[in-house]
Amino acid sequence: MDLILRNARLRNRSGTWNIGITGDSITTVEEQLTEVAAEEIDAAGNLVAPTYINGHIHLDKCNLRDKMRPNKTYSWDECLTLTWEHKAQYTLEDILDRAGRAIEVGILNGTTIFRAFADVDTIGKLRPVEGLLALQERWRDMAHVEVVAFPQEGLIRHPGASELMEEAMRLGADVVGGMPWFEMLDEDMRAHTDWCFELAKKYDKDIHMLLDETVNPLSRSLEYLAVKTIRENYHGRVSASHCVALSTYDETHARKVMELVKAADMSMCSNTHVNLVMQGVFDQEPLRRGITRVKQMWQMGINLFTAQDDYNDPFYPFGRNDQQEVAAYLCHTAHMTGVNEIEAAFDFITSNAARALRLKDYGLVPGCQADLNVLAAPTVREVLRLQQPPGWVVRKGKVLVHNQLQREFVNR
Ligand SMILES: [Zn+2]
Repeated sequence: MDLILRNARLRNRSGTWNIGITGDSITTVEEQLTEVAAEEIDAAGNLVAPTYINGHIHLDKCNLRDKMRPNKTYSWDECLTLTWEHKAQYTLEDILDRAGRAIEVGILNGTTIFRAFADVDTIGKLRPVEGLLALQERWRDMAHVEVVAFPQEGLIRHPGASELMEEAMRLGADVVGGMPWFEMLDEDMRAHTDWCFELAKKYDKDIHMLLDETVNPLSRSLEYLAVKTIRENYHGRVSASHCVALSTYDETHARKVMELVKAADMSMCSNTHVNLVMQGVFDQEPLRRGITRVKQMWQMGINLFTAQDDYNDPFYPFGRNDQQEVAAYLCHTAHMTGVNEIEAAFDFITSNAARALRLKDYGLVPGCQADLNVLAAPTVREVLRLQQPPGWVVRKGKVLVHNQLQREFVNR
């Protein structure tokens, strides 16, 4: 055995456990383990959990905030315009630098799996995809990075984007993205969705669309995507992020849509940080907060996950690429503070996200890839309450990070 984590607490199990790792895999999980390994870590009774997954992050745009001019109105249009000013000038090195810094922080915070969206349009052309594919290669040993080809500016309303999307898939993008709600007409929204399915089927890829990112109750791209998923027999291969408008539908219609989502076996990603600052900006009080129906969908058994989305960019001024923070925000914004609800929020950044990304060998049982965190507290609630980084971050059996928190009174 190459590495043993001793004295580890595990979710839904009593007592403390020893986790043995050989090569890049977990080989044993036992209460008593007499063997010794070349390297051993004492978890000291803290929780050990599989690595965190950030299933939606815009790594091509991240850290633009450091050099862009101030965002004055926070309108959707201004966020896009600010991005255009930089997107046209992106270089490979610039993307690798900005995105690399975000990945680094993410790993320090216990996330080693990322689904990264790359804009595909005639402004930045294929540079964002090329940049994130280069990033994927450069960080291969330390992180699993999936690249989503994402038509941020639309397809029908943005001529030339479709051809570039096809080229992005040829270059090696892993997932087909979509932005159908942003089209000008409902019929264009449906044509956009249909076109993305044709592309995904041609390259045998999964789909992850950004939907209804608006408090406008007339935005109805989620129900179309769910029906399309069922009709194309793409069950289990489609994710949807945001779905803000769902929170504004009347209960009868919302239920119909959520039942369709469930029947399509879709995964739903809530991006609560960004929704909180971008939605309802033109409302008078009370301001709508723009969070999709997280708790209701979770109760219905729909596969929910949550992710950072924007990071220090024109759309969002903050972001620590810290999935513990993302889960804790979700607990607040989605009113999930019961014992089981907090546990569920932790699933949203681990096992549910793994299901959405259809990751194999994810988990903490023998045979799984040894991608895990020794956390800084013994329970999920304490991990999310205290918000301390993991003590150790392990990927493929290799210890990547050892975080030590040093705080002390100088006088008291
Ligand atoms: Zn996003």
